Amino acid sequence: MSDKFDVVVIGGGPGGYVTAIRCAQLGLNTACIEKRINKQDEPALGGTCLNVGCIPSKALLDSSWKYHETESSLADHGIKIKGSDLDLGTMLQRKDTIVKNLTGGIAQLFKANKVTWLQGTGQLKAGKQVEFQPLDGGETQTIQAEHVVLAAGSVPVDIPVAPVDQNLIVDSTGALEFDKVPKRLGVIGAGVIGLELGSVWNRLGSEVVVLEAVDAFLPMVDKQIAKDAQKQLEKQGLDIRLGARVTGSETTKTKVKVTYSDKDGEHTESFDKLIVAVGRRPYTEGLLSQDAGVSLDERNFIYVDSQCRTDVPGVYAIGDLVRGPALAHKAIEEGVMVAEVIMDEHTQVNYDVIPGVIYTHPEVAWVGKTEEEVKESGDAYKTGVVPFAANGRAMAAGETGGMVKFVADEKTDRILGMHIVGPQASELIHQGVVAMEFGATAEDLQMMVFGHPSLSETVHEAALAVDYKAIHVAQRRRKK
Ligand code: FAD
Ligand code: AMP
Repeated sequence: MSDKFDVVVIGGGPGGYVTAIRCAQLGLNTACIEKRINKQDEPALGGTCLNVGCIPSKALLDSSWKYHETESSLADHGIKIKGSDLDLGTMLQRKDTIVKNLTGGIAQLFKANKVTWLQGTGQLKAGKQVEFQPLDGGETQTIQAEHVVLAAGSVPVDIPVAPVDQNLIVDSTGALEFDKVPKRLGVIGAGVIGLELGSVWNRLGSEVVVLEAVDAFLPMVDKQIAKDAQKQLEKQGLDIRLGARVTGSETTKTKVKVTYSDKDGEHTESFDKLIVAVGRRPYTEGLLSQDAGVSLDERNFIYVDSQCRTDVPGVYAIGDLVRGPALAHKAIEEGVMVAEVIMDEHTQVNYDVIPGVIYTHPEVAWVGKTEEEVKESGDAYKTGVVPFAANGRAMAAGETGGMVKFVADEKTDRILGMHIVGPQASELIHQGVVAMEFGATAEDLQMMVFGHPSLSETVHEAALAVDYKAIHVAQRRRKK
């Protein structure tokens, strides 16, 4: 193995592997250090996202939705199924196969791009040296790099009131692996991960109680959208209790007793399993030696500038290790940016236009500013909101819940934010992403021709609604 590289990336998640591939494309001799061992006891690339995050959770969300539809709504289409059976083993196996194929695909891409995958743990030392401890127990080596990219990601936050044992009390990784459907499932945290994983097991038959300390539901989401999402998720069977702070837990052989307090006092609930989904924190343990010279910010993220440079020249940090939303696509674009910055190209991630998605049913998706944020800024604005109930394609699909909302600048007409709760929100939101990246106005979207019948027509109508021009909803002009 060479002990000199142009670039050494520590961490092979979506941030790290993309950085490594882009660096190699640009002609840099690149190594990526990844220490992960997967369920099959093999070294694996792909990080949290591919192994225990985005991908396996979406596989289970898709499978569980098909089961839920079979059980609940196919009859509305005149399809009657007698005696449908849940084969959870096959469902989990399918998820594992998808993960294996994808992570194996990254290893192939590394080979094709001549990225050296160093299987083991990396630690940044002073002077852009990286200490590499191989997984196979081989001798520790010191590697000299021109540039180092830290991409070690994040791990779940632990709370002492509910210590994870990966048996009765699990984190998001354990929640992807239940070998039978828990009869009663508790979820601590009504964030994105808690709602997605709670939805999976609820659809498969669990009675799910979500305990959330904060009073507001999805405070980062536009209020009107969050309110509708909460209503629809509760209708689906999620028992969401806001203002409910978990204060303790006790396990017996088969049950978890959880205590929580809300405005009415102390309460106790008993569950068969408990998912702790109270957020993630940057994973810096063992990553930096004492003399590495890289600073952390007040929330323990690695401190970086807008192009992901740390305080040490030639050392960068990206993804969940640094400020900004903890999302795979944010990590990926930061990786591309860093590779290009290393080559002295001027690249900048547009942090104002990063979409967020919650893959529940209905899905929730947003980009840009919420109405509350714009109001707070004091700028004059206008909104356009159109429900999917006014859309023929949504009716045909039996998916009429939810809406599309635009927030636009009153003076310039520029789109400031797009917010969706409803069918295919995760796909539709990219119309807002493209529009905002091109600095589009509501009128730009109003003048475009959208295919009929399509869910996208609700995007078109919501843009029209910004100026009281929507055809399929009755709009009353607000008094100025
Ligand atoms: P990671 O993916 O965490 O990868 C970092 C890698 O670095 C890890 O594999 C780790 O083993 C390795 N590593 C750490 N330290 C060292 C070291 N010292 N030496 C060598 N290797 C090291 N995001 C989305 O955008 N969409 C989603 O739908 C989504 N769903 C999610 C669902 C769940 C259940 C979870 C938990 C997360 C989800 N996320 C989702 C978040 C997403 O997974 C993260 O934002 C993303 O993985 C961050 O990428 P990263 O490259 O920064 O870090
Ligand atoms: P996120 O960071 O989006 O994954 O969301 C995690 C959620 O967990 C936040 O909304 C927190 O308010 C919530 N949370 C954290 N600690 C507790 C607790 N002890 N009881 C209930 N909810 C909690």
